[in-house]
Amino acid sequence: MDIPRIFNISESAHRIHNPFTPEKFATLGAALRLQSGARILDLGSGSGEMLCTWARDYGISGVGIDMSQLFTGQAQHRAQELGVAAQVKFIHDDAAGYVSAEKVDVAACVGATWIAGGVAGTIELLAQSLRPGGIILIGEPYWRQLPPTEDVARECHANAISDYLLLPEFVASFGRLGYDVVEMVLANQDGWDRYEAAKWLTMRRWLEANPGDEFAPEVRAELTTAPVHYAAYTREYLGWGVFALMPR
Ligand code: SAH
Repeated sequence: MDIPRIFNISESAHRIHNPFTPEKFATLGAALRLQSGARILDLGSGSGEMLCTWARDYGISGVGIDMSQLFTGQAQHRAQELGVAAQVKFIHDDAAGYVSAEKVDVAACVGATWIAGGVAGTIELLAQSLRPGGIILIGEPYWRQLPPTEDVARECHANAISDYLLLPEFVASFGRLGYDVVEMVLANQDGWDRYEAAKWLTMRRWLEANPGDEFAPEVRAELTTAPVHYAAYTREYLGWGVFALMPR
């Protein structure tokens, strides 16, 4: 079981697999006023940077589930490196349908809401692991500006304009699901650059190390087109943020 190989190649050097920077995760952790000993569940935990740094900085404990074997191994390694391996556990598995045995203070899905069929389904799934009074975290794109055409939306890796909302509508949508938005931290274009542009050097180095790999033509094609494509579309049209929610 694993994710498509292109991600395990292009994001192999990423600690954070979304447009957040280390500073943004620190800001979010502080904004949530995390107490030492708070329990966190993280579905699609990637390379574990959120849980590991919050364990180090705020004394939380947590469990992360991720379908990438590579990222899960990196998360375990990062926990050792930061001296928090006794506080955080990373499991290589499909997070679809995962409900924790013990209720948590914070239930998160930061950039992987397809795990439960979208934002609404993921909130429903996370709510099953949440203690009363706990906080749900959803990391998700929104439109920074509305794409002028459906073609432009597809160039932003959306299936349609209707996949995402403008920020005010997106914030309002949580209310319609019965949730208060109690905090939010938004990425910016510099953060998008760190996420997207960091893939290019990783792909270039991978191509140099693996010229004969059967996957090389696909990586070559991606590296050739990704920078211009990103500058023209994703960087201009897509916003991204983490929204903290509590049921009304
Ligand atoms: N939250 C992390 C990673 C976000 S990227 C961070 O902020 O860095 C999306 C992650 O979802 C990837 O790590 C990918 O491996 C993982 N993923 C994709 N499908 C999944 C599934 N069905 N179950 C668990 N993890 C999944």
